[in-house]
Amino acid sequence: MRTLLRSSTLLALASAAARGQCPTQPSAAMTAYPQHSMDRPQPAVVTPAPAGAPVTPPSDAIVLFDGHDLAQWRNGDSVQKAAGWKLVDGAMEVVEKSGDVRTARVFGDIQLHVEWRAPTPAEGESQERGNSGVYLMGMFEVQVLDSYKNPTYADGAAASLFGQYPPLVNAARPPGEWQTYDIIFHAPRFAADGSLKCAARVTVLWNGVLVQNDVVLSGPTAYKRRPPYAPGVTTGPVLLQDHGHPVRYRDIWVRALPDAAD
Ligand code: MG
Repeated sequence: MRTLLRSSTLLALASAAARGQCPTQPSAAMTAYPQHSMDRPQPAVVTPAPAGAPVTPPSDAIVLFDGHDLAQWRNGDSVQKAAGWKLVDGAMEVVEKSGDVRTARVFGDIQLHVEWRAPTPAEGESQERGNSGVYLMGMFEVQVLDSYKNPTYADGAAASLFGQYPPLVNAARPPGEWQTYDIIFHAPRFAADGSLKCAARVTVLWNGVLVQNDVVLSGPTAYKRRPPYAPGVTTGPVLLQDHGHPVRYRDIWVRALPDAAD
């Protein structure tokens, strides 16, 4: 009896550990409401610390943008094409209809620091106010939006995993102020036959406040649908979205993480 108990306990612990480290299914929170539902409660407002100066990247970071040039960036549609955004006051700014921009390099598991600023004065409402986005592997969007006193569907608010997970709280600063995302991303893993072995997972701190706590993605970001993973794709660029609004970015750096998911 004792041996049996011990075996079953160990098994339970092992499977719990496996679920924690390598889940394949999104959490129940994702499907608690229909996608883009306005009935989903708005995230509670939390006032973050005041905006500070840009942080100095750690010594092992790959600096993707330091305010001087777009050397690390390409057009989102083609790595052969130049990035079409402009440099303004040490930042890069979305140029409407120039397209998304993406890094020339691709990444798997990363820690990513991004600073962004919504346009001021604020114009438009809901998804039409200061919309952009940080796409991990070019396909998983951490929403960028002016969410300061700007209700929208919760799974499309700033720092949402768009269409999947609202942020835990709304830690927005007013438009015109610099805001930070610190993102920890674990890329998906696939078995040799292309089946999903581990789903992608994301943690986000927004202005220093935890807003996504190791959430498990259902697949790539999409509007009004949740498509499946692209089998076998485990790396991709960091991509910033042109949603037609003059959002600015600065101080972008990334650290490659050791492969700990297998
Ligand atoms: Mg967006």
